[in-house]
Amino acid sequence: KQMRHHRLTLLMQLVPYGNKQKLLISRDITSYERIEAMRRDFIANVSHELRTPLTVIIGYLEMLTADPEMDMEMQNQALSAMTEQTLRMQHLVEDLLTLSRLEDSLNKLTESTVDIVPMLYELRREAESLSSGRHTVKISVDSEDQILASREELRSAFSNLISNAIRYTPEGGEIGIRWTVSNGKGLFTVWDTGVGIEPEHIPRLTERFYRVDSSRSRETGGTGLGLAIVKHILNRHQARLKIKSEVGKGSEFSIEFPEKRVVTKS
Ligand code: ADP
Repeated sequence: KQMRHHRLTLLMQLVPYGNKQKLLISRDITSYERIEAMRRDFIANVSHELRTPLTVIIGYLEMLTADPEMDMEMQNQALSAMTEQTLRMQHLVEDLLTLSRLEDSLNKLTESTVDIVPMLYELRREAESLSSGRHTVKISVDSEDQILASREELRSAFSNLISNAIRYTPEGGEIGIRWTVSNGKGLFTVWDTGVGIEPEHIPRLTERFYRVDSSRSRETGGTGLGLAIVKHILNRHQARLKIKSEVGKGSEFSIEFPEKRVVTKS
């Protein structure tokens, strides 16, 4: 039997002792240390992510303070750089709050029957505006079936995959959204003709702050938490994430919903 005691995991075991049994209590150091190491890593990552924009902002503030006569153009440049870095921090803090809410086991799912089709058309419009004409956004819907889910979480998972497709696809490429139901299971797919991902990275993409190309992720406004958020949302819905990709050709991220969550529209 395992028992959590303060920050330690205690293992309790009944072991034979002559013709009786005795209770053996031990510390499970390995799991304790693993959790501690993950916690340390996470804090180090968050601190690093916040330090970079703060350094930029402090640099510009010092420059502005040192030279009150600075010309207008330089001033505007400084302001826009500071705005960009501040938004980056805001985005990070929002993603961190979303993750912690999703990880809270007391935070139960608010379910309703979600009409997927209109949501996808809405997301497509959003994708077009996010891409601002740099990509073609396609949509294919072959089911009217609905999903029993938290509408807000579902939207957030879909929208994360779509914005990744846009961010990792060069100008002129294509993005596609697909909704189908087969063998009773619901399948939402986002595909792109983008940069693709090498196979060895695929199993690690849903780890917090895991990035294949850090500079591209940051340049395009990524926090490195998007797929970790998606994974948590899917766990709460007993859904699975499937990733297929080929470097230089593109990627396909699919969410498979179990039969019990698919509601046939009558
Ligand atoms: P980020 O904010 O860095 O995009 P995510 O958790 O959303 O964080 O994604 C993790 C990493 O997975 C990204 O940094 C990127 O390397 C890779 N990735 C995600 N989606 C795609 C995609 N559609 N095409 C290529 N790479 C992707």
